[in-house]
Amino acid sequence: MASTVTLLEKTTTAFRSDDVADKALGSPTMKHLLLGRSKGAGDTVDMAKRCCEHRHELVSYDALPEFLKHNEFILDYYRSEWPVKQALLSAFAVHNETINVWTHLIGFFVFLALTVCAATMVPTETSVSHSATSTALTHNSTGGNPMILTSSYTTVGAAVAMQAPPTRNASFLVEQELAAPSPSSGHIIHRVARWPFYAYLCGAMFCLLMSSACHLLSCHSEHASYVLLRLDYAGITGLIVTSFYPLVYYTFLCDPFPLSLYLGFITVSGAAAVAVSLLPVFESPGLRWARAALFACMGASGLVPIAHKLLVFGARPEAVQTTGYEMAMGGFYLAGVVVYGARVPERWMPGRFDLVGHSHQLFHALVIAGAYAHYHAGLVYLSWRDMEQC
Ligand SMILES: [Zn+2]
Repeated sequence: MASTVTLLEKTTTAFRSDDVADKALGSPTMKHLLLGRSKGAGDTVDMAKRCCEHRHELVSYDALPEFLKHNEFILDYYRSEWPVKQALLSAFAVHNETINVWTHLIGFFVFLALTVCAATMVPTETSVSHSATSTALTHNSTGGNPMILTSSYTTVGAAVAMQAPPTRNASFLVEQELAAPSPSSGHIIHRVARWPFYAYLCGAMFCLLMSSACHLLSCHSEHASYVLLRLDYAGITGLIVTSFYPLVYYTFLCDPFPLSLYLGFITVSGAAAVAVSLLPVFESPGLRWARAALFACMGASGLVPIAHKLLVFGARPEAVQTTGYEMAMGGFYLAGVVVYGARVPERWMPGRFDLVGHSHQLFHALVIAGAYAHYHAGLVYLSWRDMEQC
């Protein structure tokens, strides 16, 4: 790590004289033109090259402007007021936000892949308990895609289990079969609405993408930091709010009053949290625990519909299984909030975890783990309500 850091410092060292010249002469283009006229063509090219190689150094905590001072236990490797282009390119450089950017950017792509998987999964006879579906598939898939019949739409990861993509005909057929009267049973089988599950996936992707953008670009300016932090808070709120949707919608599918009550409560609470987060004081370092407490309370309010679910459906294995995933999610989020608020381990050894291992990186990893646990809960809800509706 030390050699990496040394190399980094060498390659990102600022040309102070260039900075001074930039300030004195205005834009790099103007500097190029002004200086270029007084020198030969070769010198002009050199000058232009140097202007375009505008480099920026990493600075220590003490050199930061107030709006970038969030954690005094991270002592070095800060980017401060970098141009947007350099800030964007710094995704591929080493500084104290690199891992924060990539943890949630990779998380975003993971959830994008999960969404695509969920959108393309096809329930089989094991999910719908419907002999007509498998019969129809056998007659119409013409042997072109036998994997459809052997893939499983289980309660713990159906979408991922698809070993071969279904043909369009087969997919269309399943939709038709699921909405059609069964010749064998006389029942009409429908797939339950998917929007609460997709709302959750979109909420997770929005949160992860906004977080990643915030960590990458907040160093640009105070205004950029203000706007991006609000989007980051909105993303966290969106993740919490949409996490309620599958839980509440699929659990209380047949009981409109608690369904509307819980969905209305969490949606209004989320809107209020976004409104509060717009206040400039909300991002003050001294209010770190207040921010953590606000989001933790929103998440903890999910215990009410979960307890209600167990009261009504406690005997059902799906209710127990989804509660297990939800407890795992809550555990990950709670651990994340504690780490975020306490700023450990960097508090114990300031400067030691500047690049790798500081609290915010751990917080990011715990958020992804929690969101992934809830994704599995969503699959169980879908399986449950596809099989049993009102
Ligand atoms: Zn973050």
